[in-house]
Amino acid sequence: MEIQAAVLEGVGQPHRVRTVTLAPPKAGEVLVKIVATGLCASDVNAIDGKRTLVPFPAVLGHEAAGVVAEVGAGVTSVSVGDHVVLSIVPSCGTCSWCSQGITNFCSTAGNAMGDGTLFDGTRRLSMDGQPLHHFLTVSSFAEYAVVPASGVVRIPEQMPLDRAALLSCAVLTGFGSVVNTAKVRPGSSVAVFGCGGVGLNIVQGARIAGADRIVAVDVTAEKLQIARSLGATDVIDASIDDPVTAIKDLVGGVDYAFEALGREATIQQAWRTVAPRGELVLVGLMAHGATLTVDAGPFVNEQAIKGCYFGSSDLTQDVPRLVDLYLTGDLKLDELIGQRIGLADLDSAVGALRRGEGVRSVITFD
Ligand SMILES: [Zn+2]
Ligand SMILES: [Zn+2]
Repeated sequence: MEIQAAVLEGVGQPHRVRTVTLAPPKAGEVLVKIVATGLCASDVNAIDGKRTLVPFPAVLGHEAAGVVAEVGAGVTSVSVGDHVVLSIVPSCGTCSWCSQGITNFCSTAGNAMGDGTLFDGTRRLSMDGQPLHHFLTVSSFAEYAVVPASGVVRIPEQMPLDRAALLSCAVLTGFGSVVNTAKVRPGSSVAVFGCGGVGLNIVQGARIAGADRIVAVDVTAEKLQIARSLGATDVIDASIDDPVTAIKDLVGGVDYAFEALGREATIQQAWRTVAPRGELVLVGLMAHGATLTVDAGPFVNEQAIKGCYFGSSDLTQDVPRLVDLYLTGDLKLDELIGQRIGLADLDSAVGALRRGEGVRSVITFD
């Protein structure tokens, strides 16, 4: 089929909305009509070459929700007409990681993402007879996407699809880092460095997990105000106050610090706010090849630094739980959407995200 998609030729290039060809789903794949797709920092990292993984030319976009339009042979998990959340952590079910139940580490998916293909090593996207690369097996900056069936999760129809799109990446990552990776205990204290799409969901994840003190740190007043509405008990504007001193004054040290920016300087700050026996969770992705220097002193206090990929999420358990939390009013998503835009406005939203302005931009299709 012929569809409109935002094509990126290479690092630093502008998106061009073009007519591209999308081949039908093969066995184990589904065709999804994209209804909404968020713009995430990982898309911008790919555009800027911060992570070198992405082969070009490609169609980016990965934080999406839509409606199943066709299923390939053997697909029984979803049917045509089902509303679904798409995901960058599909799983093959048979590799050594999947066999252990650690599906977010699926090596089949990892290899496909590195090659810009789907699981069988081939591509469904092409333009003018030349193949285009898939991005993280999703490629949702397009009217339709062909994705692995394990990369979609059915959701109830009362869940609005533009808000469901946010579950796909920002919410699963942020909420998951609190609930799955750190397993934040009720009554504990939490600091969150960086209140973008992921950081704000760390804040509300901490609230839902029952944290007592939740200190949000950012450099923009708008994001700190949203952080407060999502459950932050204290906010620190790091453009005015030193966050380390401010957090020590407020709570002494925190049981859990989360860094959602992937920057060495803020990781170092976050590490200095952790209390003895507490931990720092690195949620933000650092640039490919980056190194990190931290003060070694706190290790004697049994402080720990923990990595996190995609909130250690298990889609089949976490997506239904998040939908329930939204529908009962505990999980707030409406506040997270800054603007709804069309594909043609993608690059201006990329610029705003790069500058750290505003909250989530969601691309919607009629
Ligand atoms: Zn993302
Ligand atoms: Zn696997």
